[in-house]
Amino acid sequence: MPAAALLLSLTACSGTAASNNSKPVVLTTFTVLADMAENVAGDHLQVESITKAGAEIHGYEPTPGDIRKASGADLILDNGMNLEAWFEQFTAGLDVPRVTVSDGIDPVDIAEDAYKGLPNPHAWMSPLNAQVYVDNMAEAFAELDPDNAEAFRSNAEGYKQELQAVQDELVTELGTLPEHQRALVTCEGAFSYLARDAGLRERYIWAVNAEQQATPQQIAAAIEFVRANRVPAVFCESTVSDAPMQQVVGATGAAFGGVLYVDSLSEEDGPVPTYLDLIRHDTRIIISALTGTGAQ
Ligand SMILES: [Zn+2]
Repeated sequence: MPAAALLLSLTACSGTAASNNSKPVVLTTFTVLADMAENVAGDHLQVESITKAGAEIHGYEPTPGDIRKASGADLILDNGMNLEAWFEQFTAGLDVPRVTVSDGIDPVDIAEDAYKGLPNPHAWMSPLNAQVYVDNMAEAFAELDPDNAEAFRSNAEGYKQELQAVQDELVTELGTLPEHQRALVTCEGAFSYLARDAGLRERYIWAVNAEQQATPQQIAAAIEFVRANRVPAVFCESTVSDAPMQQVVGATGAAFGGVLYVDSLSEEDGPVPTYLDLIRHDTRIIISALTGTGAQ
């Protein structure tokens, strides 16, 4: 594709000038993708996330500064699968190449609520899927910066080995849970892929972060599930209020098992500054709370 390659190299030049930096600039929609992209890019690209650590990413409202930054970028990576409700409008006026990193993933469909039947967008919560993301990034970076294509592919291979190791840990460690403790109850239904990989039953208060979430009916249904299954501990995610889950705790006597990270990394000095940390942290919190061996 010589035309596309030419376009990429032209935008690379303009972006480089705008950012006053010799490296091409890659923007991602959220921090988890930025960390994966940095692992693939090494020192060759400048990677930044549009949303900051701790931000709500589904219904994010981009600022004028975000749009300025994006117009000077050389490549924008999004998750896709309807994760970023704001993304189409955000990029509509931009002449910057975009790549959807979830391309090629086998989706798990959302089981209920208004989003029933649509693919669950949280595909990165399986490190197996993350390996597909990483391959897509390596190919996109190779097209953006062909001189470093070999480095991107080699970085990707090394990082994929780490992803596979953390996947093996997750499956092995969660596999030690007794049958009756294999239930993961969270605020958002963001754990379908992790639950699938680890053989956990998944229950949540709402399917996808949106305006209509945590209705009395949704909370009542979660309470019923926790009671019926004698679930020992429940969880909520770092980017949303845990108030609805505290209602479930109050009504059932289940423990609040702790804060799980899904849609955002923490700050650098927080508990999950990288994606690998995120998966390890969530695995540890889930096991300790469900087995009662030291809840948060
Ligand atoms: Zn989410």
